[in-house]
Amino acid sequence: DPRLERISSAIRVIPDFPKPGILFQDITTLLLDPKAFKDTIDLFVERYRDQNINVVAGVEARGFIFGPPIALAIGAKFVPMRKPNKLPGICFLLNGYVLIIFTGEVISEEYSLEYGTDKIEMHVGAVQPGERALVIDDLIATGGTLDAAIKLLERVGVHVVECACLIELPELKVIGPAKQVDLLGLMGIK
Ligand code: 5GP
Repeated sequence: DPRLERISSAIRVIPDFPKPGILFQDITTLLLDPKAFKDTIDLFVERYRDQNINVVAGVEARGFIFGPPIALAIGAKFVPMRKPNKLPGICFLLNGYVLIIFTGEVISEEYSLEYGTDKIEMHVGAVQPGERALVIDDLIATGGTLDAAIKLLERVGVHVVECACLIELPELKVIGPAKQVDLLGLMGIK
């Protein structure tokens, strides 16, 4: 597709960020090129518009940039998957009297990083069992983040149709997303 070249060249590569030795793929320059940004959204929309997707789940932070325009175009809701302690939620537990009220109940999933672990969270009530989801992020490296996103959605009975990213760092894919998910999307642009 001729659009891929323009999209690819609009992504800036920054050496030694955030640490020495890392080549950071910076998608903020893609956002400055309205044609390349629109082409990116269009490519995802063309792939996913006829797949009965009700949920577009975007991973913080850059999944929040690409997810919402895709969700609007395919007629799906947008669900943010956030870093820990960002989603508002209250849980009242009166033990002994069996009164349990969850307001904005949040579930979380931990995943491994190169050093240590991280977590993403989702509001349980944002999705319903049986809904069909697309997970969006800008980049896949080890696959750990997408793996956690898939697990969160599956824990509440959502079917993950596919995960999609703009950029793939294949040499780093050591954890790998859950096998049952067809990880094609637009990966491999870069
Ligand atoms: P993974 O969990 O697959 O190892 O890492 C993917 C996550 O790290 C994504 O949420 C992605 O936004 C972030 N990430 C890692 N390296 C880069 C990079 O070079 N550029 C950008 N934009 N994001 C990165």
